[in-house]
Amino acid sequence: MNAHELKERLTGLLKTFEENETLLTNLDREIGDGDHGVNMLRGFKAVNDKLTGETIADVLKSCGMTLMSAVGGASGPLYGFSFVKMSQVAEDELTAGNIHALLDAFKEAVSARGKVTGGEKTMYDVISPAADADHLLSSEELQQLAEETKDMMATKGRAAYFKEKSQGTIDPGAQSAVYILDALIGGVR
Ligand code: ADP
Ligand code: MG
Ligand code: MG
Repeated sequence: MNAHELKERLTGLLKTFEENETLLTNLDREIGDGDHGVNMLRGFKAVNDKLTGETIADVLKSCGMTLMSAVGGASGPLYGFSFVKMSQVAEDELTAGNIHALLDAFKEAVSARGKVTGGEKTMYDVISPAADADHLLSSEELQQLAEETKDMMATKGRAAYFKEKSQGTIDPGAQSAVYILDALIGGVR
């Protein structure tokens, strides 16, 4: 995948978040404040409008800076910072062979910024196993990771206030991470 193809994948997430805004909002209504759909849609509208860069690194950085400034809430800084961190390890061409460095940077960024580890019912529960896997996860495998957050009890973010009541639904950030990872990994599968 070259920079141009990456741009198309990232701007293409606008459509994905338009189609899934209600789903994400409903998930966040269960265990949060019901704005995750709106937050992600606002972010990728801005990415669609403003994404710049002629190299993989510059495109990732532009995406990160845009998400940081356009998305409020917990998810904006986490995704924004992650894209900036991914930009720092990116090579000129993204391949099935080198995308693992990017996924590792994504995982490390969320862990550092969110002070989160596995099993806390967050986006990290999709990002971390996707980075650790010995193969490139399919869309179905990514979705399965999000499904596994249903049984978890949230201990980070707003959802932590719901304690046991946070169990039973997919974490909204885990679901949005499926779309973002599928856009990145899909470019080299
Ligand atoms: P807010 O909770 O501020 O309204 P969003 O609704 O946009 O922000 O995002 C909520 C998502 O952010 C959660 O579903 C979870 O996946 C993720 N999240 C929240 N706090 C953390 C954290 N400390 N580490 C990792 N992810 C987190
Ligand atoms: Mg929210
Ligand atoms: Mg909010």
